[in-house]
Amino acid sequence: MPEAGVAIVGAGVAGAAAAVRLAERGIAVTLYEAVPEPRPIGAGLLLQPTGQRVLAAMGLLDDALALGTRVDRLFGDTPTGRTVLDMSYRRFHPEAYGLGLQRGALMGLLWRRVRELGIPWQCGAAVEGFAQDAGGVTLRLAGGATARHAALILANGSFSWLREGMKVRQSGRLFPWGAVWTVLPAPAGFPQIELRQRFRSASQMLGLMPVGKAASDDTARGINLFWSLPVAELDGWQQRIGLAALKQRMADLFPDVVPLIAGLTEAGQLREARYADVHMARWHDGRVLAIGDCAHGMSPQLGQGANMALIDAHELAAELGSGDWPQVFERYTRRRRAHLRFYGQASRGLTPMFQSHAVVAPWLRDRFFGWGGRLPYLHQQSIATLSGVKTGWLWGRLKL
Ligand SMILES: Cc1cc2nc3c(=O)[nH]c(=O)nc-3n(C[C@H](O)[C@H](O)[C@H](O)COP(=O)(O)OP(=O)(O)OC[C@H]3O[C@@H](n4cnc5c(N)ncnc54)[C@H](O)[C@@H]3O)c2cc1C
Repeated sequence: MPEAGVAIVGAGVAGAAAAVRLAERGIAVTLYEAVPEPRPIGAGLLLQPTGQRVLAAMGLLDDALALGTRVDRLFGDTPTGRTVLDMSYRRFHPEAYGLGLQRGALMGLLWRRVRELGIPWQCGAAVEGFAQDAGGVTLRLAGGATARHAALILANGSFSWLREGMKVRQSGRLFPWGAVWTVLPAPAGFPQIELRQRFRSASQMLGLMPVGKAASDDTARGINLFWSLPVAELDGWQQRIGLAALKQRMADLFPDVVPLIAGLTEAGQLREARYADVHMARWHDGRVLAIGDCAHGMSPQLGQGANMALIDAHELAAELGSGDWPQVFERYTRRRRAHLRFYGQASRGLTPMFQSHAVVAPWLRDRFFGWGGRLPYLHQQSIATLSGVKTGWLWGRLKL
């Protein structure tokens, strides 16, 4: 395979991880990132055992463990005390756990490795289009410049319009629900929590997750707070709802949160998140490949997006070796198909049970999830799903 350079568009989890994995295998890579000065920001993530394995392969897991917090159990209930989720990673594997981490902390580690490997990284370089021919791909950058590469990897997130330049059947649909989130320092005496959720039907959901230190210069434990909102209310929520009324909704749903949200004093502390459900019939088109949210964006209910982005990067590197880029990308699609198809279906099936105006689906959830979780087989299947290893509904495990 010619070792001419590969362009990666987007320096988020998928793009930065792919740049690292390819550079480690001796491939010349250039990263193009639209943001002029990327800063390590983003919601708290639950990094699954599979994503942790990819970080271990990059030599970054120990640093990630030092920055984050181990999560052994996920618990969610209703205001009437009905258990909806109660899952323990130990049922998946005695040594398995989730890692609560701020996306910024993960980005800091990946970008450090990008720099250590000397990967050329152009910031403030938005890619506006591309054209491919038999010999390579030409990128069109904002401002009119062009750049020629042997292949192109699109890792520019769920809302990528570049993806539409691939001749692949695809859809990208804004999910009708989003969220506001923030990381707050745990006040003195606030209980040690693992991942904790409280639901009222599917229309209200509050999530808490420990994510290491609140800020890099802080000593307090950081707790990621997530509040679900329909997109129609999310747009201009500051005027439509207002911070005081939003905090009241949180306190009504889950009174234990009151000491924590005392630290939420300005609307600007809450960041908005919107997500899209992205489906592609395949992820390659000749010399162009889509990875990460650009290829398979999903709602964050299953806690898989960053995890999948890391696995994409790792699995792409595993397919290098023989053949030119179109063959490598085709093998990658084959390798990823079962795993990504399962998580796309699971996300589309489960999300309306947690974020929607549906009545029947959350009613069934409240009656059967807690009960089902007490059956060892179902508990095992649920925690295996969360851990990111499943490649089919009945059997099939990802081997990393
Ligand atoms: C509230 C919330 C909670 C979440 N919780 C979890 C969780 O618990 N576990 C988990 O694994 N995942 C979680 N996720 C999902 C996770 O954050 C994403 O899946 C992951 O960050 C996607 O990474 P990415 O690199 O594919 O895309 P992105 O992070 O979107 O990165 C895309 C990059 O491309 C750049 N870009 C865009 N267009 C261009 C262009 N034209 N030219 C150049 N650059 C461009 C952008 O500036 C950006 O830097 C959560 C997401 C949200 C919103």
